[in-house]
Amino acid sequence: MVNKSKPRILLIEDEADLRDTLKLNLKGQGYKVLTAADGPEGLRKALSKAPDLVVLDLMLPGMDGLSLVRSLRRESDVPVVMLTARSSEMDKIVGLESGADDYITKPFSVGEFLARVRAQLRRAQRNGVRDVLASGSLKLALVSRRAWQQDQVLDLSPKEFSLLAELMRHEHAVLSRDLLLTRVWGYDYIGDSRTVDVHVHWLREKVEADPSRPQLILTVRGVGYRFEGGVEVDMDEEDEDLE
Ligand code: CA
Repeated sequence: MVNKSKPRILLIEDEADLRDTLKLNLKGQGYKVLTAADGPEGLRKALSKAPDLVVLDLMLPGMDGLSLVRSLRRESDVPVVMLTARSSEMDKIVGLESGADDYITKPFSVGEFLARVRAQLRRAQRNGVRDVLASGSLKLALVSRRAWQQDQVLDLSPKEFSLLAELMRHEHAVLSRDLLLTRVWGYDYIGDSRTVDVHVHWLREKVEADPSRPQLILTVRGVGYRFEGGVEVDMDEEDEDLE
């Protein structure tokens, strides 16, 4: 991290004790921390202060976390980590639909919290303005809409590209067919969610080593799909066990 200014984190949390604890720990890691105690103040600061990352509680006075992220997403691509007391899978889907990048379910440890923050900051930094999405052997350039696997160019249709990008943006998260339909085909698309299944099938033919036994785009029965890019070894950071 040479010549990089300290990342600025906006912490939007109404519980004073938790806010103070998280602030203290973030500052301990060398981050600059801005805080807000309610939804409207949080949204105003998120838009006016251009933080590098936003940590947001789901339940906030004035404006709840989901509405806040929806408003924020019209203007900004800043990574958002949401704190939530609800842990069911459907809540995660609803939250992802709103545009949050990651979730932490309360109660959580400070160590886990800091790790998630670090991961989102690294991801944002690596992806620049999110032009490049990379996971495992797959790489997508979002502006030029080109895709590679193991440095081989992939020939994807526009819909296949959008579908893969949507899945990769939310690696490890379950995305419902309806959500994918809305995100990739648009809100006014009149069709059924089997459209998604057909495109996933085509996509698997192109990206899976064995399309009949998918390793990257996994089916979550009764719900939708989940992307798992596989282990990504970060040579800068994770070499502590090498001797
Ligand atoms: Ca709260």
